[in-house]
Amino acid sequence: MLISRRELIARELAEGTGATIAVGFLDGGLRRGLRIWFDDLDDKHGPVAELRPYGLKSHQVQLAFGPFSARVLATIRAAEAEDIQLARSLVRSVARIAEVAVTGQHLTDWTVADARFGISATFRHHTINPDTDEAVIMTCREVLVPLMAAMAELIGYDVVEDATEADHPAVEGALSRATVNRRERNPRNRLLCLRIHGLKCRICGTDPKVVYGSAGGIIEVHHLEPVAMLHEPRPYDPEVDLVPLCPNCHRAVHTRRPWPYSPEELMLMMGIHHG
Ligand SMILES: [Zn+2]
Ligand SMILES: [Zn+2]
Repeated sequence: MLISRRELIARELAEGTGATIAVGFLDGGLRRGLRIWFDDLDDKHGPVAELRPYGLKSHQVQLAFGPFSARVLATIRAAEAEDIQLARSLVRSVARIAEVAVTGQHLTDWTVADARFGISATFRHHTINPDTDEAVIMTCREVLVPLMAAMAELIGYDVVEDATEADHPAVEGALSRATVNRRERNPRNRLLCLRIHGLKCRICGTDPKVVYGSAGGIIEVHHLEPVAMLHEPRPYDPEVDLVPLCPNCHRAVHTRRPWPYSPEELMLMMGIHHG
């Protein structure tokens, strides 16, 4: 079962960003680098990221806005605090493994003010030759996808909502179920959660990719709602409040409503002890 590199890259970009991304190869093909942009905005009306070989062992990724991006920049300037926070977290997750710079700004509090905004990231390959398809695909996964996901979050690409969510009324005095569901289904939250916490279920330790092979991309994202938060509400933090759960454990924690069991409570019920 062979799928082309381009399809693989496009699929990872779509899954991670929740948007349709166009992929173009730079002159000379995949190994010379690639260029990606949001399909509906084209490469002049929105952010464009380019990946190129850099030195002997690295790739450099540069993200910049096209010449006619005024409209999308206005949309981004109106992004909500939570979206901005998630976008910054995604960029920070790249900075853990690559050298990342936001032009003229700090990594912790950058904003997109105008078309001069740019991000550059240098990703060094330690074990594989950067001049291979595999290396390009790895840089794509580790750098391009999260950077474009950050932009997708700021632009506000729609997260598909499940119609049944409307049936559950908001929980009084706490976060509404719809808000939690939106966070759990947002592909950018999922991407961030998996990049930070890995692909194993926080409760039973299962890695669905190991159990189900290529059909195992089914790990889900759960939003922790500790009871303490009800008494002492604090701002949402995607890096702390989201954990990966396998579909079974996720289903199990949500058998209690409105507040799901905590991972610790379920582990106790399952007889799992902290190692
Ligand atoms: Zn599990
Ligand atoms: Zn959940």
